[in-house]
Amino acid sequence: MAGTMQAAVLGGYGAELVLGAVPRPVPGPGQILIRLEASGVCHTDVHIWQGAVRPPLPPLPFILGHEGVGEVAALGEGVEDWRIGERAGAAWIHDTCGTCPECRSGHESFCQNHRAHGLNVPGTFAEFVVADARFAARVPDGDAAVLAPLMCAGLTALGAIDRADLKPGECCAVFGCGGLGQYAVQLAQRRGAEVIAVDRDPAKLATSRRNGATQTLDAADTGALEALAARADVCINFAPTTATWAPMLTLLRPRGRLIAAAMVAEPVPLNQEWLTASGVTITGTSVGTRTQMADLMREEVERPLAAEVTEITLAETTEALRALHAGRAPGRFSIRF
Ligand SMILES: [Zn+2]
Ligand SMILES: [Zn+2]
Repeated sequence: MAGTMQAAVLGGYGAELVLGAVPRPVPGPGQILIRLEASGVCHTDVHIWQGAVRPPLPPLPFILGHEGVGEVAALGEGVEDWRIGERAGAAWIHDTCGTCPECRSGHESFCQNHRAHGLNVPGTFAEFVVADARFAARVPDGDAAVLAPLMCAGLTALGAIDRADLKPGECCAVFGCGGLGQYAVQLAQRRGAEVIAVDRDPAKLATSRRNGATQTLDAADTGALEALAARADVCINFAPTTATWAPMLTLLRPRGRLIAAAMVAEPVPLNQEWLTASGVTITGTSVGTRTQMADLMREEVERPLAAEVTEITLAETTEALRALHAGRAPGRFSIRF
């Protein structure tokens, strides 16, 4: 499989990605080569693009991206459970250590030694990507541009709801109703929860209502916030900001659960006395496991999740990163190859 491929290459942190031909990767033992049909652009790509993630940062030049969907173009040595032409996805997790307590207890997304596409190994802002045959996602038929954002955003939404152990009849407040939050609104509603969607953008709140939220809240509306005080059993934060913490603490009932799903590097405001008195559980979540990915793909086949996907070309990737950074992305961007 010698040859080249088109890629949008990161040459300098925060700089325009450079579109050009680079060597096409070759799958090693246990790996598959995926010819991508589409790749989503995730907010985590924005953090890495800007060099604003925990070190080590990838050595440049580098290819970002971790929401790839395509078909198997080549098999590495020893790969027996994939066929050429089969649908496959490259998600955030390229591989994990397989030996730590997290890996061994079915919580592989918390493996501290996992390697991620678009951070530790080359990603999906390119026509081809190499994936680990054990971790590549089994992706159903359907529009690749619509399926690609499920690889991270959809999986993270499902992982967060599982992490919350959300039960029918409970009230779940979803903070941050962009592409990721909209998946969560739908998944929470499908699990029989009453959903409160929280955002600053009236358009995103309107979309949340269409997706099953029973209540919407502008977090800056103090009166509306107070009226819903202690209503939520679960608050999930998808908004990449610490500004959501004060309203989350208002909405949560005593012994409620707070799930941090957004990557925010700054410390959050938290009063230990409040924590002592309320008995609230605070935890985090990161993407999901292979089992959760299989659950998500099954859900998508049975009842497709609504998503506002803006299709772009590979050349428009930097602009998509800028739009995500500025908070002016309507939903998810998907590069169509
Ligand atoms: Zn992501
Ligand atoms: Zn591990």
